[in-house]
Amino acid sequence: MAMLINETSSRPRTGAPFEDGGIAVATDDKGKRYVVTLAAGSTLHTHRGAVPHDDIIGQPEGVRVASGNGRMFLVLRPTLAEYIVDLPRITQIIYPKDLGHILMEADPFPGARILEAGMGSGALSLTLLRAIGEKGQLISYEARQDVVNRALRSIRAVMPNTPQHVVRLKDAYEGIEETELDRIVLDLPEPWTLVSSAAEALLPGGILLCFVPTTIQVHRLGEALLDHPWFDQMKTFEVLQRTWHVDYRSVRPDHRMVAHTGFMTVARKCSPKPSRLPPEELAEDAEDAGAEDEGQELDS
Ligand code: SAH
Repeated sequence: MAMLINETSSRPRTGAPFEDGGIAVATDDKGKRYVVTLAAGSTLHTHRGAVPHDDIIGQPEGVRVASGNGRMFLVLRPTLAEYIVDLPRITQIIYPKDLGHILMEADPFPGARILEAGMGSGALSLTLLRAIGEKGQLISYEARQDVVNRALRSIRAVMPNTPQHVVRLKDAYEGIEETELDRIVLDLPEPWTLVSSAAEALLPGGILLCFVPTTIQVHRLGEALLDHPWFDQMKTFEVLQRTWHVDYRSVRPDHRMVAHTGFMTVARKCSPKPSRLPPEELAEDAEDAGAEDEGQELDS
């Protein structure tokens, strides 16, 4: 089996036969998915019949197997997104649509040293671990031991060895102890309480990204970041992903979508910014700006 493991991703090569202990996602003919950890002698029980794991182990990825009552199942290795949405939900998770943008906006890179809090179900941890690779370091703060145990179980199932992952059972609001961090990603109810601590912990140019579900939290966090001399380049966004139904006779948006998950706010640690102007001067500034510059601005 070791030969099949792709060293950088701890994932077997695409197409490699399914192995005992490996992960598979079986999809039935109605599109329902079952993520399973394969074990010789075990059986996947579904509403559309039973599928012995032994019918899958040793078969190449993409195989179709029949259940006991003749229904067909398509078996693949799950993508990270498929694995994440199927994680045991100990807590709310960050959804793949948001995780995808976190990869661009928090910009975790191979070798990066990143702090995240809290760990929750491990969806973000998995995404960051994959992005930083073996030479990076991920430090996860989590307040609850039961949450840590279950998240680690989910992570181990796809990444059995992660010496680059340090998990600390701790109240994040007491402050960030690590220094020289490239990135900090907070998925906590009150990230504004950590703005000063994050500023101390980040390297110059480092990025703080916070995920919060409500506008009240965005507002409080925004004020804290605007007030802090070292944070600049702040932006807030949400991600709406609308899937489409594509068939021979009908191409249209799906009726249902995940309407709301949360907002992401990003800011960078910089040299101290000039102090903010009092409100009356800000108003004058805004008037001047309207009158003067017709040049194009690059708005991302
Ligand atoms: N990002 C995670 C979900 C995090 S849910 C994922 O994608 O799966 C929020 C987590 O923060 C919970 O597990 C909760 O226990 C933890 N938490 C809340 N307050 C905390 C604090 N003060 N210190 C550390 N962890 C905290």
